[in-house]
Amino acid sequence: MTPKRRTGFVFEELYMWHDSGGGSFPLQPSPGFENPDSKRRFRNLLSATGILDHLHPIKPAPATEEDLVRFHTHEYIESIRQMSANRGGDAGELTPFGPGSYEIALLSAGGVIAAVESVMKGATDNAYALVRPPGHHAEPNRGRGYCIFGNIAIAVKYALAKLGVSRVAVVDWDVHHGNGTQLAFYENPDVLTISIHQDNLYPTASGAMEDNGAGRGAGFNLNLPMPPGSGVGAYLAAFERVVVAALRKFQPELIVVASGLDANAYDPLGRMMLHSECYRRMTQMLMEAASDLCAGRLVLAHEGGYSDYVCAVLRACDHRRAIGDSNRDRRSVSGLG
Ligand code: ZN
Repeated sequence: MTPKRRTGFVFEELYMWHDSGGGSFPLQPSPGFENPDSKRRFRNLLSATGILDHLHPIKPAPATEEDLVRFHTHEYIESIRQMSANRGGDAGELTPFGPGSYEIALLSAGGVIAAVESVMKGATDNAYALVRPPGHHAEPNRGRGYCIFGNIAIAVKYALAKLGVSRVAVVDWDVHHGNGTQLAFYENPDVLTISIHQDNLYPTASGAMEDNGAGRGAGFNLNLPMPPGSGVGAYLAAFERVVVAALRKFQPELIVVASGLDANAYDPLGRMMLHSECYRRMTQMLMEAASDLCAGRLVLAHEGGYSDYVCAVLRACDHRRAIGDSNRDRRSVSGLG
C-alpha cells in the first residue's frame, strides 16, 4: 500500500469578494464569465463530498510588495492600489475590478506562494490553491484577461529567491495561452514553461509553437497550440509525447500547474472537448512525473473555467471509492494526494 499523501488546500472566502464587473452576453446584462460561482461550487462540492476533510488547509498571507516587484513594475502595482482604494477600474485589458480588489489580488498571489512554500518545506506533499483572481495572463505593467497579478510567476520567483529552489517547471493547461508566465521566464533557463492551449484564442497572436524562449532561456519555453475541437486523445498524446517527456529531460525540483479548467467541453469561452476523466489522467501523469523527479512536489494553482462543469472535474477524484475503502488507491481522494 502506498503511503498516504498530504494534500494542501488554499481557499479564502475573500477570494469570492473580488468584483470582476458584469458582462453582457448575449446583450442582456449578466454576472460576467469570471465570477465567483464556479469557484464557490468547487469548494462547496469538496465540502459536501467529504473530500475537504482529507485536505490540509493552508492559510495564505497577502503577497508583499517585495514579492510583487520580482515580476511587476512599481508603477503598475501603485496604479492598482490607487484604483482599488477608490472605485476600482481596469487593470489593463479586459480586467475590470472593484474597490478592494488590490488586497484580494495580493491574497491570491499569496495563496500560491503559501502552497509552494508548504510543499517545498514538506508540510504537505502537494497542494491545490483555489485562488481568485487568476494570474497567468498578467504582465509586468498591465493586467490582462481577468488577471491582475501573475500569481504563479510571483510564487515561482519567490521559490527561486527565498526557498533555495533552482529548477521549476510550470505546466499550463488552461485553454488560453499562459502569456504572462511565459514572459516572466522567457530568458530564464531555470524555469521550464509549457502551455497547452487552443490556438490563437486569447491573447490572440500569442503562444505560437515557434516561441521557444530567448537568450539563455532558449529552448525552455514550449507552446502546444491545439486546434479548436481537440479532445481527450489529443491532450493525452501531447502530454505523453511532449509535456511529460520535457519534464523528465528538465528534471525540475517542483512542478506548478496553471489549472484552468476551461478546456472542458461545456466551457463558454473555449472550444475544446475535455471531460473530468481527462483532467484526472493529466493530473495522474504529472503526479507520476513529480514522484519520479522531485519527491512528488506538485502545486496546482486555479486559473480560468467558466461553466458549471468545473465542479464536475472533481469527479476525477472518485471520492466514494477513496473514502469508502482505505485499501484502494488513496491518491484518488483529491485527484492529487
Ligand atoms: Zn483560460
